[in-house]
Amino acid sequence: MNFHILTLFPEMVMRALSESVIGRAAENGILSVAAADIRDYTLDKHGKTDDYPYGGGAGMLMQAQPVYDAWRAVTDAVGRPVRTVYLTPQGEVFHQAMAESFAKEEDVILLCGHYEGIDERVLTEIVTDYVSIGDFVLTGGELAAMVFVDAVGRLVPGVLNNGMSAENESFHGHLLEYPQYTRPAEWRGHKVPGILLSGDRRKIDAWRVKEAEERTKERRPDLYRRYRALEDCREILLRRKLQHTDMTELIARGQAELICAQGENICLKDTMSGTCFHTATDIENGCAMIETVLAREKERAGKDGASREFLLVLHQDFMVEAARERFGAELLMACYQAVHTRREKLPVSGLYDAAGRREEDRPAIRTLLPCHLDVVARYYRIMDDPDENLAYLKERIGKGQMSGLFQGENLAGFVGTHIEGSLGMLTVRKEYRGRKFGKALEVHAVNQALENGFTPYCQIEENNMVSIRLQQSLGLCFSKQKIYWMTAKV
Ligand code: SAM
Repeated sequence: MNFHILTLFPEMVMRALSESVIGRAAENGILSVAAADIRDYTLDKHGKTDDYPYGGGAGMLMQAQPVYDAWRAVTDAVGRPVRTVYLTPQGEVFHQAMAESFAKEEDVILLCGHYEGIDERVLTEIVTDYVSIGDFVLTGGELAAMVFVDAVGRLVPGVLNNGMSAENESFHGHLLEYPQYTRPAEWRGHKVPGILLSGDRRKIDAWRVKEAEERTKERRPDLYRRYRALEDCREILLRRKLQHTDMTELIARGQAELICAQGENICLKDTMSGTCFHTATDIENGCAMIETVLAREKERAGKDGASREFLLVLHQDFMVEAARERFGAELLMACYQAVHTRREKLPVSGLYDAAGRREEDRPAIRTLLPCHLDVVARYYRIMDDPDENLAYLKERIGKGQMSGLFQGENLAGFVGTHIEGSLGMLTVRKEYRGRKFGKALEVHAVNQALENGFTPYCQIEENNMVSIRLQQSLGLCFSKQKIYWMTAKV
């Protein structure tokens, strides 16, 4: 990911961002930070970049021309439109979900104002997002840009050593983090809670959830209310568990945004993919929820002007026709949901080396790396547009969400986890079929999901008998009700 900062004080931001975690990531080429001096672009012979505001008033304003030319130099170099953020107290207040959304971008331009701000005309021309770091006024946007780069940069895959650490932290799933302790076990008479020394993983996890809940309730009642609302939904959804595993997992993985909830009528948005998941008791309630989703999507589409398609996942047969007729939605696929309902891992056959070691000709399963992207994209197509397909697989591989089965150095097949959490993309190349490689990959994916504390599940197209039989042979339980992936336009 590349951060391009437009500022009058490039040294100020570069000095801070070349230190510590972000500095190291930049040194290792995982991300880049560059600051362009807006002053270099002024056409004024005295190097002036500001002037008095029309209509009078205190202070000076940054002029449009140097800001625009600095911005043009970056966008021309990148060669395609780039999301451009103006750091301003008038923007949407920065939060973790926003950081997660920006972390998916390849490039971001950050524009720092100074003095009384910037001439409105250039903002209207170039800015796509207005972001504030809080309800207070700074002297310039530089500190805000540093906060932005730090919070977004650390979410870029590979920046934090431990891939899981961003997922357990405050704000993930609307909870603050539980209290943490390190050596010594006793300090000034204060002992570390005994349970943390017990070595019992399950009890430690339960203790941490309880502590996180209590802390959030006490310190951030606003967050706690959102957390509780989602937990209430989860309890309702669990009444028909197999049908709703995709939705309960969104909540469990901290990537659900509640759009509507009225009794058993629930609609959640996956904050990672933007897909909306919908379950309803009847057509009227179901359509009312789709209307809410459409209104929200319309409002968002309005912000950047473009009309867009979005994905809607329906959980009842009766909603499919209604969504088609009333909202012009189109059916992409009907699937069964298959869930590994036990906590125990599946047994690993002697077929491959579970530790992923390279051993003579024995097949081994390893996490895929960016160098495998081309082969994966050649054999797996989830999106019609090849560029979108490539971008999707690149993102999944980049996040360490795909594994491959290797025969020697050859990639014989692969499996992965989709953005919303289902296992899928299972592919075995023709020349390697008939050797139970598909089963080995699926067992690996199920066991890995369990290791991460997730409920493994997959969605299988209704006529994909090979996959249905494979999941049945592994003992996964099938939902009776089909799940429908649809596209809708706003
Ligand atoms: N006159 C402006 C107003 O009332 O909205 C405030 C200008 S402020 C003194 C100067 C610059 O600091 C802004 O252009 C902006 O880039 C930055 N800034 C100030 N407060 C900020 C905040 N809370 N979040 C992000 N940027 C901020």
